[in-house]
Amino acid sequence: MPSGSLWACRHCDTVHASVPVEPGGIATCVRCGYVLYRRSRFSLTFWLALTYTAIVVFGIAQFFPLARITLLGKVLDVSFVGALFLTWQDGHYILSVMTGLVGFWFPLTQLCFLVWALQCLKKDRLPWDFAFAMRVYAWVGPWSMIPVLVLALIVSIVKFAGLAILEPGPGIWAFGILGFLLTALSRLDSVRLWRYAEEAGLAPAARDHRLPSEHVAACDVCAYVQPRQDFEPMPCERCGHPMTKRQHHMSARVWAYLIAAAVIYIPANVLPMMIISNPLGTSVHTILGGVYELWRLGSWDLAVIVFVASVVVPITKLGALAVLLLARRWRGEAAQRQRTRLYELVEFIGQWSMLDVFVVVLMAAMANFPGVSQIVAGPAAASFGMVVVLTMLAAMSYDPRSGRDENSKTSGGTKANDER
Ligand SMILES: [Zn+2]
Ligand SMILES: [Zn+2]
Repeated sequence: MPSGSLWACRHCDTVHASVPVEPGGIATCVRCGYVLYRRSRFSLTFWLALTYTAIVVFGIAQFFPLARITLLGKVLDVSFVGALFLTWQDGHYILSVMTGLVGFWFPLTQLCFLVWALQCLKKDRLPWDFAFAMRVYAWVGPWSMIPVLVLALIVSIVKFAGLAILEPGPGIWAFGILGFLLTALSRLDSVRLWRYAEEAGLAPAARDHRLPSEHVAACDVCAYVQPRQDFEPMPCERCGHPMTKRQHHMSARVWAYLIAAAVIYIPANVLPMMIISNPLGTSVHTILGGVYELWRLGSWDLAVIVFVASVVVPITKLGALAVLLLARRWRGEAAQRQRTRLYELVEFIGQWSMLDVFVVVLMAAMANFPGVSQIVAGPAAASFGMVVVLTMLAAMSYDPRSGRDENSKTSGGTKANDER
């Protein structure tokens, strides 16, 4: 990156003057260890080609059959889009909309905006709506859950294997490849794309080292460092994203989301997740029942994965955020680094608890043989999806810099313009 431009840490607000980073290298915050910048080994042309490939693979994954299922002479081709339609027809509207957004519409939006932005950067021009597009792109990123959907496909197929003859279709291979491609492309976040624009001289870079560091903040979308008031929202000077140095009533909002999530987590566990009917009768499965079922089928590895995603992850997220909110007065750099690690963990595990919700939608589509064998989503599926959404909103509302404030107030710490 161009030497001398300013870079503020998202976690602790420490302002750094950037230094050249080798391709493949990273620059971390001197104070809390957060990764400020990763320099890509690859060119824009490479990323553009990868994005186009991902769009083609996306089409194959979504519209070609995932599997062909044969049961008592009846044949069923299952696709993810078909599964969404079926969920809607069964009257599970919230479930259908929720999984449709995170498994189809948001990843598609993400890919379209990315390809457009890369095209603009490649042609060395920054259209007026680039800033708007990047704000949408940044918003949609955390809600795009294709890798979770890929894992859900594997779990569903294992669960289903004993029930009927199942032949994998092109869709399933495409989903596997798409999972890898989107994980690679997730490196190109809005901050990185703005950095490309900055490096090409298309966007202004923040360079004024005389900015008083206690009154500056970095934009969440474009990372532009600029003077900012504590609680008054003002649009970012470079991209227009409304920003403040501190959010009003941050902890009240996070607590509200956390409490709502904890309350909905109870019906999500007690009510049935799946209702399975076959000529022998009807059985009802809760989340833990589903884990036990996988264990009984001999897939103890998948049982562990589902247990972690559906039970351990939500509880860890709720607990970790509560700890971050309550233990604000941890002193010292070591404790601060622990806070950063804990918050990064919460951000990282964010979407994985959606696993079981996807499994239910897919299983219902695979076992759609009315009168013979049928799986229907239970009320817990939508509740559990809401828990995931609420805990993600809680993590997004949490401002990791708030712990630093308490720390600098009590220790009288200064926030000098640290250089590295
Ligand atoms: Zn930092
Ligand atoms: Zn901005």
